[in-house]
Amino acid sequence: MMAITEAFVGLAIQSGAYQALDGLYLTNQLRRLVGQDDLSTVTIETSDLYTVIDTLTRVVESNGHLAKLGWTTEIWQAALCDYLTPLPSALNRQFAENYQLSPERATTAFYQSSCDNDYIKVRQIAKNIVFKHPSQYGDMTISINLSKPEKDPKEIAAAKLAPQADFPKCQLCMENEGYLGRLNHPARTNHRIIRFDLVGENWGFQYSPYAYYREHAIFLNEVHQPMVIDSATIDKILRVVSKFPHYFVGSNADLSIVGGSILAHEHFQGGGEQLPMSFAEIEKKIVLLKFPAVQAGILKWPMSVIRLMSTSIEELVAASEHILQVWDNYSDEAVDVLAHSRDGERHHTITPIARRRDGVYELDLVLRDNHTTAAYPDGVFHPHQDVQHIKKENIGLIEVMGLAILPARLKDELEVVKAYVLGQAVKVADYHQRWADELKQDFSGADIDGYLNTAVGQKFERVLEDAGVFKRDAEGRLAFERFIEVL
Ligand SMILES: [Zn+2]
Repeated sequence: MMAITEAFVGLAIQSGAYQALDGLYLTNQLRRLVGQDDLSTVTIETSDLYTVIDTLTRVVESNGHLAKLGWTTEIWQAALCDYLTPLPSALNRQFAENYQLSPERATTAFYQSSCDNDYIKVRQIAKNIVFKHPSQYGDMTISINLSKPEKDPKEIAAAKLAPQADFPKCQLCMENEGYLGRLNHPARTNHRIIRFDLVGENWGFQYSPYAYYREHAIFLNEVHQPMVIDSATIDKILRVVSKFPHYFVGSNADLSIVGGSILAHEHFQGGGEQLPMSFAEIEKKIVLLKFPAVQAGILKWPMSVIRLMSTSIEELVAASEHILQVWDNYSDEAVDVLAHSRDGERHHTITPIARRRDGVYELDLVLRDNHTTAAYPDGVFHPHQDVQHIKKENIGLIEVMGLAILPARLKDELEVVKAYVLGQAVKVADYHQRWADELKQDFSGADIDGYLNTAVGQKFERVLEDAGVFKRDAEGRLAFERFIEVL
């Protein structure tokens, strides 16, 4: 048995934010936060982070203080964990010192600190359902996201147009560091950002609280300004990779439907795990006559990807600028590729992803087209109607790379489909009915879970194929070659 105050003080000291002499001060801060002076009856068996958080949360919920504060539990817990977090200045100093030893050491320590103070929601992330899906393109990863709700593309588009709240302007603004939070804005008291210089601009580096993969990092501009995909952005992405050579770094596209959930604030995502697309083979080499220092090829991947490789960032930026310019104005009616609408609206952009392999920079340029038609009102190169029962959200950077982030609703829905396939009398959701019937008909009777996982994985392959501008059939391959020829 251990006094809760002792456990809390222990964690605060362990975080590096305080020392033993701060013990009385910390205990009084805890009394203030919990709203009661006598904490002597609150004891715990184990002094780990979650036991401490959960025990104290129960106290503040039951003694009425949380209601008196008018805070959500999330806000209160973040405020509690602020005491388990060094000040931004201290963390930045420590990061710089570690970085001198190695970039990896610096990111590892910062990542650990972001987990130890419950900023990264390790417990919630562990709830996600994750499995590998072997495919013709290599292993993909399928995850059902049970830690955070997904947004609808229409909501994302509406949010882009909606008037901004006064403060902070968005969830990616630097001003979130230490922000208390409110009902419609996450609690960020325990949030810290590492500062760095990026081609003369002030940028921040933080982790995603609801990580989709290992060390899911976010790099953000200090200025709240919209996402742009141009050669300057590609240059920045490559410079971030050179700063963090053990991380991949990519950007969502800058147009709705084919972009990410936050288009209003310039940012990149990256991390310590190479996602499936990085292992895809080059199935056809390309010669870029104007850029002899750059090797290039088309990836064997459901989406249309050109991989560039060079030791020179400048050459890669020049080559990608050229490809981007050509793509921006490239239409091919035969395969429904459309650069501009009649009213001049731009439809073409790129999802760029960079990494360093054996000292060589690799830059994957994923061609995107966001135009809509009467037949495909959600987007010609967006998951089509018949796969939307599995995924209707935007195919952003992470999915492009072969990591499916599927909506939480699927957890229960797939259980029902499973029961249906096994012949039980259940009511399958209308939008799954056709699929469930097909699955039931083809089911061999063995390994129902593996059977369903494969079926979901195949849907995800289809989702990516829908998002691919040049299809993988003979007609699509020829169309891709026509595009390559004009480069
Ligand atoms: Zn912002």
